[in-house]
Amino acid sequence: MPEFSNIEKYFKPLTEGHKAARNLQDDVAAISLKKDEELVVSKDMFAQNVHFLPSDGAYKIASKLLRTNISDLAAAGAKPLYYSLGFSNFKNCTEKFVAEFSRGLRDVQNEFGLCLIGGDTVSTNEMFFSITIFGVAKKGKILGRSNAKNGDLIFVSGNIGDAHLGLQIKLGNEKRKLNKSYFLDRHFFPTPRINLGLALNKNNLSRCAIDISDGLLAEANHLAQASKLDAEIHFEKIPFYDQSLASLDLISGGDDYELLFSVKKKDEKKIYELAKSLKIKLSCIGEFKKTANKKPQVTLLKEGKKIPIKKFGYEHF
Ligand code: ADP
Ligand code: MG
Repeated sequence: MPEFSNIEKYFKPLTEGHKAARNLQDDVAAISLKKDEELVVSKDMFAQNVHFLPSDGAYKIASKLLRTNISDLAAAGAKPLYYSLGFSNFKNCTEKFVAEFSRGLRDVQNEFGLCLIGGDTVSTNEMFFSITIFGVAKKGKILGRSNAKNGDLIFVSGNIGDAHLGLQIKLGNEKRKLNKSYFLDRHFFPTPRINLGLALNKNNLSRCAIDISDGLLAEANHLAQASKLDAEIHFEKIPFYDQSLASLDLISGGDDYELLFSVKKKDEKKIYELAKSLKIKLSCIGEFKKTANKKPQVTLLKEGKKIPIKKFGYEHF
């Protein structure tokens, strides 16, 4: 299928006529910023059989690609505005695939209020997609991984492990009687916590956050290393869809796209108020502590006893 007809028919409408996209007629897009804003950028690559299966279908692949990329801006406490798309015109790519792919992007755009401003298209054998997302935050005010302080509480949004259960159901590895469609939806359609990130940032309730893509323990470890603090996590405080599902597998499973963030002890109550006003679950699962080690440690405690961590999470390389 000729490249240009695809772009004209299916991708150009996703620019919604926004002037930054320059009608997809130029070599570049151009983003204007207000004086007190800074541009916040993130890129995600999405490879067949690593991040998705071709059998997931175009709509779900596109939706997850954009959702997970938006989640990176949520972790920074930034507002997503635009994205640029790397699209592989893979062998056997049909017009139907492109139509469904663009419909997947469209629905996420409508939900989060951002639009396409450009991209690139190449012919490949396998499916491979990439998005670079552009957002804004007040100058000098993004959340970072290294900003946790000794004594800060560790909070997490939503449930841990829903997406992992969804993946296991998709792969046919889950034999228990579970709410299949709920968990599959959590796997295919993660919810980037944009409103939470923005509220934490705006109200100075956190300076340190990360989104959980590789697993709760792996991301806690990222924060611990960057902030040079130990992280102590209480297994029984970790929120699951149902506490009877609690398992080590779920906390190193990945793909949750919930936010893990630090909060000053004095602000704990404000976080529960925020949870109410945003209508999301926010749970305190532990705290950061001064480390006596050269390499900061993540400790998992169950009924006060340390449990050994065999696997922190998913490693992409
Ligand atoms: P170049 O030859 O410089 O790579 P292209 O011919 O690939 O330019 O692109 C022409 C226009 O179409 C550009 O504005 C580019 O941003 C846009 N474009 C190309 N591929 C995509 C895509 N996959 N998604 C959105 N826009 C695209
Ligand atoms: Mg090009």
